[in-house]
Amino acid sequence: MYQKLTEKTIKALEGIVGEENLIIKPDDMEPYAHDEVAELHHLPEAVARVHSSSEVSAILKLAQKELFPVTPRGAGKGLSGGAVPLQGGLVLSLEKMDRTVEIDKENLMVSVEPGMITGNLQREVETQGLFYPPDPASLDSCSIGGNIAENAGGPRAIKYGVTKDYVCGLEVVLPDGTITRLGGKTVKNVTGYNLIQLLVGSEGTLAVVTGILLRLLPLPREHVDLLIPFNDFSQAARSVAEIIKNRIVPAALEFMGQDSVRAVEKLLEKEVPFDDADAQLLITLDGNDRRTINDDYEHIGEICLNNGALDVLVAENTATRERLWHARKMIIEALQNLSPQRIMDTMDVVVPRSRLPELLAGIKEVSRNEGLEIISFGHAGDGNVHVNIIKNIDEAVWRDKTPKTVERIYRLALSLGGTITGEHGVGLTRKRFLSSALDQCQIDLMKKIKKDFDPQNILNPGKIFP
Ligand SMILES: Cc1cc2nc3c(=O)[nH]c(=O)nc-3n(C[C@H](O)[C@H](O)[C@H](O)COP(=O)(O)OP(=O)(O)OC[C@H]3O[C@@H](n4cnc5c(N)ncnc54)[C@H](O)[C@@H]3O)c2cc1C
Repeated sequence: MYQKLTEKTIKALEGIVGEENLIIKPDDMEPYAHDEVAELHHLPEAVARVHSSSEVSAILKLAQKELFPVTPRGAGKGLSGGAVPLQGGLVLSLEKMDRTVEIDKENLMVSVEPGMITGNLQREVETQGLFYPPDPASLDSCSIGGNIAENAGGPRAIKYGVTKDYVCGLEVVLPDGTITRLGGKTVKNVTGYNLIQLLVGSEGTLAVVTGILLRLLPLPREHVDLLIPFNDFSQAARSVAEIIKNRIVPAALEFMGQDSVRAVEKLLEKEVPFDDADAQLLITLDGNDRRTINDDYEHIGEICLNNGALDVLVAENTATRERLWHARKMIIEALQNLSPQRIMDTMDVVVPRSRLPELLAGIKEVSRNEGLEIISFGHAGDGNVHVNIIKNIDEAVWRDKTPKTVERIYRLALSLGGTITGEHGVGLTRKRFLSSALDQCQIDLMKKIKKDFDPQNILNPGKIFP
């Protein structure tokens, strides 16, 4: 159905973005052929690095006329294959649209372009005493546009929510090239359906995001981090339940098993605190009132020690806090490093917080039964677990066992009232499981929405739907 890019189309694309922003040499296109999912690779026919919404609009109008597929791309740090140009065609890279348009201190909002690196956005607003809370572990390399497209989350979701909770306005280009602006600086807006929330998390299949207006918070003045080791994960799980029951809501509440900690040590070639503990909780408290934070951390310490914690390490200065978080942020890379080919299958299941112990016990049982090394870590505070099957076995065994194992873990999460992805998206890697997570009526509605936005299916085809 799609047409290959002809010489004439390439010339037209050069006319839109300039010769220097159109990549057509296979070697130069290589970085755009994959995201962070190992083994998923597909070269596009060209890559266009755009600088404005009018360039995006002209490209999409051309794609409609010439019938070539267009895959939007932020920084290519996705973990579901969303930016992989499965059908060839054009990769539309937003990486050059990376400016801050305005920091509005009166309305507590920031307006940015989609290619901006999330960590840069956070640091920039922090210089003004403002706070953009969503904090994916990849924040120093992923783009805010990619975060919108995936509805990215992070450790701070437990207290502050995820990307969707901060988006007040979007400028988008629809697949037919129409540029439209949704929402704005008002705090309230119930005029019609909430199209912004439909587009957040739509994985680049409905529209290309070219402008973003985000709500900000005042930057909390005080922070404390606690690292708490346990001899047994069930003690950590009991502590988490009790912390929440006591109405303490930390800014982050993460868990790591000994296997993750050892993997980080191997990667960094240095010791990480409490590496002989079975499990660790990494907890952040923030706010403006030092006394409340101190009370809360003492209370958390008591709860954990009563549940068998081996120690409570308190980090109050920035350097120590960053050191503790560095190990947590390196886990994905460290686990990739355990496989000779740097390959692992990463799942992103989420269950109600209270069912987390059952999920983790079930995953351990699957790992034992299948004889595969499965390492889990993640967000104890919101029930979102990253489950990684490490490819350190024979290719034939891997091919035989991995699909069954993945299916068993998804079925387990669903049986506990959870779902198959909490923050990484469906993309390519999870689309075959969509019908186990959603009923047919919902899938049909979603397909109709896709068809209304994009009747010729030129925008990011082959994603989400099996
Ligand atoms: C080490 C590591 C840690 C990670 N930790 C987290 C985490 O804690 N939390 C989390 O949520 N994710 C995490 N991720 C996953 C990833 O970083 C996020 O999904 C992020 O949002 C991807 O952003 P990106 O700019 O790299 O997007 P890309 O990979 O380039 O694209 C992702 C999807 O968004 C679409 N897209 C990108 N830009 C646009 C746009 N402007 N308009 C329309 N569609 C667009 C693409 O088509 C694709 O479908 C992690 C990844 C890595 C490698």
